[in-house]
Amino acid sequence: MALISTTCFATTNAATKQYISNNAITATIAEMTQKYGSNNQMERGIRQTAAFWNAQDGSEADFTLFCTENYASTEAQKQALYTKLSGAFEILFGAYSTMDIHLKMPVHVEGSDITPIDELFGGYDVSSHFQEDMFANKVAFITMLNFPFYTLQEKNEAGKLWNRRQWGYARMGDLFVERTPASLKQNISAAAMAGENYIAGYNIMMGQLVNNKGAKLFPADMKLLSHWNLRDELKSDYADKKQGLEKQQMIYAVMKRIVDQTIPKEIINNATYEWNPIQNKTWKAGKEISLAPEGNRRYEILLNQFKAQKAVDAYTPLYPTHIQRSFERGMEISSAEVEQLFTAYLSSPQVKEVAAIISKRLGRKLQPFDIWYDGFKARSIIPEAELTAKTQKLYPTAKVYGDDMFNILTKLGFTQAEAKRIAGNVAIDPARGSGHAMGSESKVEKVRLRTRVGANGMDYKGYNIATHEFGHNVEQTISLHDVDDYMLHGVPNTAHTEALAFVFQKRDLDLLGYTGKNSDLETLQTLDTFWDVYEIMGVSLVDLHTWQWLYAHPDATATELKDAVVNCAKEVWNRFYAPVLGDKDSPVLAIYSHMINDPLYLSNYPFGFLIQFQLEQHFTKETLATEIERIYSQGRLTPQIWMTGAVGKEISTQPLLDATEKAIKTITNK
Ligand SMILES: [Zn+2]
Repeated sequence: MALISTTCFATTNAATKQYISNNAITATIAEMTQKYGSNNQMERGIRQTAAFWNAQDGSEADFTLFCTENYASTEAQKQALYTKLSGAFEILFGAYSTMDIHLKMPVHVEGSDITPIDELFGGYDVSSHFQEDMFANKVAFITMLNFPFYTLQEKNEAGKLWNRRQWGYARMGDLFVERTPASLKQNISAAAMAGENYIAGYNIMMGQLVNNKGAKLFPADMKLLSHWNLRDELKSDYADKKQGLEKQQMIYAVMKRIVDQTIPKEIINNATYEWNPIQNKTWKAGKEISLAPEGNRRYEILLNQFKAQKAVDAYTPLYPTHIQRSFERGMEISSAEVEQLFTAYLSSPQVKEVAAIISKRLGRKLQPFDIWYDGFKARSIIPEAELTAKTQKLYPTAKVYGDDMFNILTKLGFTQAEAKRIAGNVAIDPARGSGHAMGSESKVEKVRLRTRVGANGMDYKGYNIATHEFGHNVEQTISLHDVDDYMLHGVPNTAHTEALAFVFQKRDLDLLGYTGKNSDLETLQTLDTFWDVYEIMGVSLVDLHTWQWLYAHPDATATELKDAVVNCAKEVWNRFYAPVLGDKDSPVLAIYSHMINDPLYLSNYPFGFLIQFQLEQHFTKETLATEIERIYSQGRLTPQIWMTGAVGKEISTQPLLDATEKAIKTITNK
């Protein structure tokens, strides 16, 4: 398996100008080796401390003295220091999280109207000065000198043999890996905010779209946000047997014009004009007029995100690119591994087989937008109105749902004592929004379940979401309270908490008392997951290839970036999609809004599916509760080591591919 090349902090790259000279480092190592004996770890700690040490921290002589005086040279000293540091970090992170939960309460929880002061406190980041303060008082240097950083590759390889204490030391070494000036962090926030605003205001007035005959297909007041609403409308158009296909073709044309920016700027968020997206013609009050294209705005926004991130590279010597910060640091899966895994999946023979099934079900040749085919969605046979009647009666208020959490857990197989303990750690609040789960870093602060309950009680949709969020709460409780070392609390990345939330959500009907297995449902669910993963892996690759191109062309203009993104999208399309969906050179995979407002996040989604799938295969009714407790109390190992501990295998596409193969056979033999 291809792994990242180890980026060693000792080699000063061009972007990083190290204040402490190599001579001073060598001399410090020599002096300390003479005093304490030769030790790899010590040398590593010294080099890392040097990489972050600036003039403001002291002279080279101060540096040498600091290292000599603050090095814990025996294991007993090291353990004592570790205990003190992790105790202090637990106090700090716990208090930050408590402050955060309570300061955000007015904006998160239903109550009196939100005032400007609520918004100020809600947006206030209580820990924003933590890194800066810890460098200033030198706690950060003491930490890295004694608990140096390990690369992802080292954690994945050496970590297989580490005991819990060694893992704790390694996680301690992850605490101080950047020293980014506040002004550069602000630039990143500003660029991200510009991306958010751009996407949030990007609506297509569907009622103004016309086909080649001048006919309007969509309701007059329909307004869809790119790209999520466009995609969801496209999915629901499968149900429209009369005009669905033409509507989908029209949405597809809109998407391509957004990607290549030939979309007229004036029609975005504006219902003044009629627009034929296929011919790209516009009319005002029945008269054809020509409007200027959007141009490069989409790619200017993305380019600014790149520039803001690139400026930080010099201050994050352990992860010197945004690609590494997103993958090696954020997901803890290297971009090379992601690429290899996704490419293998996209090339699997199951793609053609599932495509053939879809084509048969649709009764036509596949079209490019069928990457969003959703006809495998296993819809419940119980009408939603009936479910809502049931949940409204069962849960008239949020509080009643909260009181039932103990029962829900026992139904899932948790012992009475465990159900009581876990439910007792979850506080329930009526949400302003659709609902969410909020974790805590403090063992004395409960985790929160926010749910929305209407005047008539909790409807089925609300109940379904609440069950998902409750899954997060269970993870948040176990991975804080049952992990033996505070430095290891939590899960490897967001995919691991989402996986448990989906495990809960999937059982929502069982919990309401609707039993009975439907094997058709399983088959369809597998095919649905397979096709979802097929789609999202492609867009993730376009996102990744775009950033690889940006790093290779750091001085690119927005126009050059636009061409590059379109090319990346075409390449991925032609290789993995055109063979089954046609339309060679389609750029549609670049439509995802995440690429613009939250670059390099997309790859998290396929991993979420894969992890969930592997866990679901592992859980049976008998083992669900005990296995959830065992698996989620492992704490924050790397995703691969966590998964091996969970199910005995690394994260892999094989279980999903095997299950898909089985589902294909089941459905074709019918
Ligand atoms: Zn979730």
